[in-house]
Amino acid sequence: MEQITTTETKTEKAEKKKSIYSLQLQELKDWLQENGEKPFRAEQIFDWLYKKRVADFEDMSNLSKGLREKLANQFQITTLNTVIQQTSSDGTIKFLFELHDGFSIETVLMRHDYGNSVCVTTQVGCRIGCTFCASTLGGLKRHLEAGEIVAQVVKVQKALDESDERVSSVVIMGIGEPFDNYDNMLSFLKIINHEKALNIGARHITVSTSGIVPKIYKFADENMQINFAVSLHAPNTELRTKLMPINKAFKLDDLMKAVRYYIDKTGRRVSFEYGLFGGVNDSTEHAEELADLITDLKCHVNLIPVNYVPERDYVRTPREKIFAFEKTLKNRGINVTIRREHGHDIDAACGQLRAKERKEETR
Ligand code: SAH
Repeated sequence: MEQITTTETKTEKAEKKKSIYSLQLQELKDWLQENGEKPFRAEQIFDWLYKKRVADFEDMSNLSKGLREKLANQFQITTLNTVIQQTSSDGTIKFLFELHDGFSIETVLMRHDYGNSVCVTTQVGCRIGCTFCASTLGGLKRHLEAGEIVAQVVKVQKALDESDERVSSVVIMGIGEPFDNYDNMLSFLKIINHEKALNIGARHITVSTSGIVPKIYKFADENMQINFAVSLHAPNTELRTKLMPINKAFKLDDLMKAVRYYIDKTGRRVSFEYGLFGGVNDSTEHAEELADLITDLKCHVNLIPVNYVPERDYVRTPREKIFAFEKTLKNRGINVTIRREHGHDIDAACGQLRAKERKEETR
């Protein structure tokens, strides 16, 4: 493992300006017009931000000095300071970023044979309270703005620029519940997907939710071609409530109804994440019950061997039992994979690095 602790200059905490990464192309056009500038400059600015990836308005050399000053007075480009950048033996890179107000978030770059995938954070902390998750320790501090989520992808892309590589996919599976910060998350999706911005194809983006039912209906109605994942983790409502208190507010039945609505509306397949917690939800009976629950759905199950979190006392399911669980589902005709682990030596599971490095934030 290689760890770089950087000493980037801290963003001025006192005067926080809006991140320009929060703006859609049209919003930037409107801003230009309101400020006596030509709207077509927006495309040039996007080019500097997302293709050339400059960190300073000063470098936008085809803009007038006046416009560069106006932009700098109103906006900030980089709002994230890299505190830690750890590279794992398998090439996974984990970033701990500090925000303008001193809070910290994590972003992970994972290497797959099909490309480079970035896992982004949507909130500082989380209020969902899943009993196995490190992100929820210390509760929710605040939502991230769209630009703070976009900036994570740009930062990782800049790190990849050094080796001439590209971010090919994005998963919204870092710290936080994306559907609890819905508008910013949606704005983020539209920006990274825009051809004049990072141009990451909708089919290469995945959003995962713990099951905020009303937002699932809303998301289905957006009709975007984004991949959609639901953290299920249990085949019945009693067990799910024990693992995920959100199941008290949005019961499994209602969750499954919303998932069906999503599939009908979009025609897309849903992924279910199912963490295997030793002795809790990993028996053959659980696998059969899970198969009963989802048997007629257009879906895929992703089995996640539990990541050990020191503050939580779940244990791993033994390997043979993981394979047995997989086999039971396969025999029932369910599409299933076991999640490959990335960056095991660098605390790559959600919220682990932050929990370790920023104890005061996660208590
Ligand atoms: N809040 C969203 C996004 C997080 S995605 C959601 O809940 O879907 C991260 C995935 O990892 C979720 O499925 C989450 O439940 C799971 N996870 C969290 N902590 C884990 C742990 N210790 N072991 C295994 N999976 C975990």
